[in-house]
Amino acid sequence: MTATTMTPAQLTRFEARLRAERTDAEERLAEFDDAMSEVRTARSDATADDEHDPEGPTMTQEWSQRTAVLADVRAELTEIEHALARIADGTYGICARCGKRITVARLDARPTATLCIDCARLAR
Ligand SMILES: [Zn+2]
Repeated sequence: MTATTMTPAQLTRFEARLRAERTDAEERLAEFDDAMSEVRTARSDATADDEHDPEGPTMTQEWSQRTAVLADVRAELTEIEHALARIADGTYGICARCGKRITVARLDARPTATLCIDCARLAR
């Protein structure tokens, strides 16, 4: 395993930023959970005389948009968790594909990046 050559100060800075982003994502998830229960309540009122399952394929556009955003936030949270795990095991900033260092500039732009810029281009 290639050790990260990032300075401890840089690593600490990324860790702090990832932790802040995790808190932010968790807050957004909590807000969405509230919003989702409101939609659910509104839908069960609206479909009270209806045979349709409120969570079935007749899903409203609003509902499906919210679900999509929720999935995005969950995916983001997972990426943040993985990045924090990589900081803990010393592999943060190492490309998962070629094993080279991911530049600090790239990590600044995307702290959860797992691929260096070259591999990210190839993967696309
Ligand atoms: Zn790479």
